[in-house]
Amino acid sequence: MGTPVGPNRPTVDIDSEAWWAAIQDRRLMVNRCGSCERNSLYVRPFCPHCWSEDVNLVPASGRSRLYTWSVIRQNAAPFDADLPYIVAMVDLEEGPRLMTVVTDCPVEQLCAGMQLELAFREDTDGFVVPVFRPLA
Ligand SMILES: [Zn+2]
Repeated sequence: MGTPVGPNRPTVDIDSEAWWAAIQDRRLMVNRCGSCERNSLYVRPFCPHCWSEDVNLVPASGRSRLYTWSVIRQNAAPFDADLPYIVAMVDLEEGPRLMTVVTDCPVEQLCAGMQLELAFREDTDGFVVPVFRPLA
């Protein structure tokens, strides 16, 4: 997988490369600490809770709860995102909080704490990003 290009692409650095590679295979991972057994995101080569370097990527369930969100109605990026869209912070069942996009949900039905499930959005160039939608 090459480094994504364009203004609508997340930055893929050396630490997050394996995480993004798993996303391309439609697998969401969290960084698991073998020392304190807590999970974290984004991916770093150490645990932000106890500083141990005994960390490994493990699969996440894809279940989360909506923490907060914002509706994006306009932006200046020259890409074809469907506006408006919902940028959200979600709390994964495994603990970490992730910035993502909520799809398949009218804005007026959003509610803090609502249960969400993982979905994947494939962009026109084939790049896959993790998004969340209301739990069916
Ligand atoms: Zn730890």
